[in-house]
Amino acid sequence: MQFQKYVSTRATPQTQPIPGAGQVMNAAGGYAWAVDNWTRLDRFLVLGTEGGTFYTSERALTVQNAQAVAACIQADGLRTVARIVAISEAGRAPKNDPALFALAMAAALGDPATRRAALTALPQVARTGTHLFHFLGYAEAFRGWGRGLRRAVATWYTDKPAQTLAYQAVKYQQRDGWSHRDALRLAHAQPPTDQHAIIFHWMVKGWADVGAAPHPEAAVRLIWAMERAKRAERVDQVVALIEQYDLPWETVPSQWLGAPEVWQALLPKLPLTALLRNLARMTANGALTAESEALAMVLRKLGDGELLRKARIHPIAVLTAFNTYAAGRGMRGALQWEPIPAVIDALDRAFYAAFGNVEATGKRIVLALDVSGSMSTGMVAGVPGLTPRVAGAAMALVTANVEPQVMTVGFSHTLVPLAIRPGQRLNEVVALTNHLPFGGTDCAKPMLWALEAGVKADAFVVYTDNETWFGQMHPVQALQEYRRKTGIPAKLVVVAMTSGGFTIADPNDAGMLDVVGFDAAAPQVISDFIGAE
Ligand code: CA
Repeated sequence: MQFQKYVSTRATPQTQPIPGAGQVMNAAGGYAWAVDNWTRLDRFLVLGTEGGTFYTSERALTVQNAQAVAACIQADGLRTVARIVAISEAGRAPKNDPALFALAMAAALGDPATRRAALTALPQVARTGTHLFHFLGYAEAFRGWGRGLRRAVATWYTDKPAQTLAYQAVKYQQRDGWSHRDALRLAHAQPPTDQHAIIFHWMVKGWADVGAAPHPEAAVRLIWAMERAKRAERVDQVVALIEQYDLPWETVPSQWLGAPEVWQALLPKLPLTALLRNLARMTANGALTAESEALAMVLRKLGDGELLRKARIHPIAVLTAFNTYAAGRGMRGALQWEPIPAVIDALDRAFYAAFGNVEATGKRIVLALDVSGSMSTGMVAGVPGLTPRVAGAAMALVTANVEPQVMTVGFSHTLVPLAIRPGQRLNEVVALTNHLPFGGTDCAKPMLWALEAGVKADAFVVYTDNETWFGQMHPVQALQEYRRKTGIPAKLVVVAMTSGGFTIADPNDAGMLDVVGFDAAAPQVISDFIGAE
């Protein structure tokens, strides 16, 4: 009897678990490891659940992730809150909504110390008026307006200096059915100063009288200027208000937003997020033209890595701006523009700069992109068109641009070497991966291919949804065989491109690491892990 034909820990079909390894069935019917709740929390905070995955609906994926968050809160509420704050504050996630949602859960479901910590952290995670409104919407799904929530929301308003609050008040007036009036009323907030009282009054009732003379209180003058902009009849009046009172672009009445002189006035103080969102508009309306002073300013801002990081610009925000701008036309509506090549180049460079300085390890690295069918479903962080497949290609490019010894391959049930070169533009790489054939998923392929082709690798980095099922051998077994036959203690990094609950990395093997795709910190974490002896 050849028992070994049916049971082996060295080669097990992916549709069966490796004996004794503690694997579970993944959503594709193959076997992998379940990630722990802390990893799931990180995946949720960074990747969100919008659009679901190929195998799991948005609703089911959200419920699963919320269960993991709840389990973390129960296991160690303070650690959960600290994690939410850390990822949100560092700008590591493309969107802040998952952090606000998880914080709302902690503020409702935690023990008393956890609830207190969550509510104390509210201003750190809800940094803008819109964040606050989203948090309130989430919180109401889990709890009522008890004393703790009232006090936390009141503090959000009363702890800010009047001038800061005035800025929040005009910039983010309402969102998703919430306004400052609602929040102030429910929180029973009492103004701590006369200036706050004037702002609260404007939020709740508006001002009856907005005269032509600037408001006597300097701290609230921004509100006055915004009210004057509403009443402006000529563009030069709007421009004067922007220049004198630093009106944010959100407060400029929409009938003036097509005017190039308005944008030229906004540009010096325009925050980077707003700049990224309005590049197309400024090009279409003629505020940005080749060799203009405005263009020089835009290029200077986009080229300032320090500024990008201080503004918490996530690489995905740059990638989105890049895709939109390079297309030359809006997704909706008739807006068209002639993209300025210098802006496209600047966005391309800003994408890498937004990850910070990633150090090269000098190791031999195989970057392996899962291009199977399932990778084309869902939206990373809710960005339309940003499938796990496209996002994986963009992430791989970050490492490819830094490391001197890299090979890039795409795999499904077969493997295709990809002609990715450093310095290549993002859209070229994305187009390259998009044209590959789809197929079943075999995450063991990169290691098996390297063995067969005689490729020497110190590390394999696999960008995948971890839904492997196709191969006759598990990815970890392929890696072990690679290590045995080549004598190279090769490492495996698994970059999760969805917030599903599985990983192909063996949690008991110190040479394997699971990281969250499109965490802005991921490329450096990968580099540290591969570089460590
Ligand atoms: Ca797949």
